[in-house]
Amino acid sequence: MTEGDEKKRLILIVEDDPKSMILVEEILRAHGFATIGATNGRDAVEMARKAMPDLILMDIQLPEMNGLEATRILKADPLTSGIPVLAMTAYAMVGDEERALEAGCNGYISKPIDLKGFILKVQELLSS
Ligand code: MN
Repeated sequence: MTEGDEKKRLILIVEDDPKSMILVEEILRAHGFATIGATNGRDAVEMARKAMPDLILMDIQLPEMNGLEATRILKADPLTSGIPVLAMTAYAMVGDEERALEAGCNGYISKPIDLKGFILKVQELLSS
């Protein structure tokens, strides 16, 4: 197997803000990841079941179904419960991190995203 055959890790980005979606896509692709995107919680659950990504980057404030609800559904399903979920939120509100972890998220970052810390967290979750 040559290096070019190596399969890229797939990350599902769940984000309803188009600018944030593009930014995160560009950062991840620049670091060698493949990405797919969903813009609401309901689509995120459906897409995760179909694509079985290596990691899900989950915005919390989302239309249709919020990121916490979507994470609870994914973590309750044996098919998807093993996929690490990294939560992200625009509001660094007291209790946000606890709520994210309580919903089953494996990690948490706040927006605006700190580039270095973000990639480190993604790599950490992928290797655990
Ligand atoms: Mn949002």
